[in-house]
Amino acid sequence: MHISNTGGLKENLTAVRERIRRAAEDAGRDAAGIRLLAVGKRQPLALLRIAFDLGQRDFGENQLQEALDKMAQWDESGVIWHFVGSIQSNKTRQIAERFDWVHSVDRIKIARRLSEQRPDHLEALNVCIQVNVSGESSKSGIDAALLNELAERIVALPRLKLRGLMAIPAPSEDYARQRQGFARLCRSYETLCEQGYELDTLSMGMSADLEAAVAEGSTLLRIGSAIFGARPD
Ligand SMILES: *Cc1c(COP(=O)(O)O)cnc(C)c1O
Repeated sequence: MHISNTGGLKENLTAVRERIRRAAEDAGRDAAGIRLLAVGKRQPLALLRIAFDLGQRDFGENQLQEALDKMAQWDESGVIWHFVGSIQSNKTRQIAERFDWVHSVDRIKIARRLSEQRPDHLEALNVCIQVNVSGESSKSGIDAALLNELAERIVALPRLKLRGLMAIPAPSEDYARQRQGFARLCRSYETLCEQGYELDTLSMGMSADLEAAVAEGSTLLRIGSAIFGARPD
């Protein structure tokens, strides 16, 4: 297999960690409170292994079959697997069985199935609710107005642990606009916290907008191309 940017991965990871450090500093935050999820979708397993050897532990995938293929070839118990893609209800069983986290729960039917199908010998599945912070321009995520009801129903499910919220705002090159979407998610998060929900995860920020996400309080960045390079088609 020809892997063009293997040599760059170490530099990429270092550069991403440095971006996080600087963004945190600018925001008066401690970078230690920001978790880095390496999104390896469509990237060869060899690159994920290199990232692991460089100390990366959290890995994200958005396609179930691709993730299962990687898991089958990489029996590494130190990896923490995060599912970040859209979820079809006929795929919930394998997600419940194989992943540690799911960031993209946006309806009760999916949450209920994940809870029912989470094996007893595993800890409760960590979940984030995906919120639509961009209105018409986004198809995924629940409307913020419906968030309360979904959160209430999810915390009642025995085999899920609600950790927080996730969003993928409509892409923008404008820093102020990037911050707007993240600020909206942060407000929803704070509202839930004020109501007594014990949350610790604000999953927001990708390669192109991590600085804006950190400025608005992100605790978990989902980074793909800035770590692994451009995705092969
Ligand atoms: C692909 C993906 C990412 C990472 O995107 P980059 O722009 O490559 O950093 C983050 N979150 C989700 C849900 C994704 O699908």
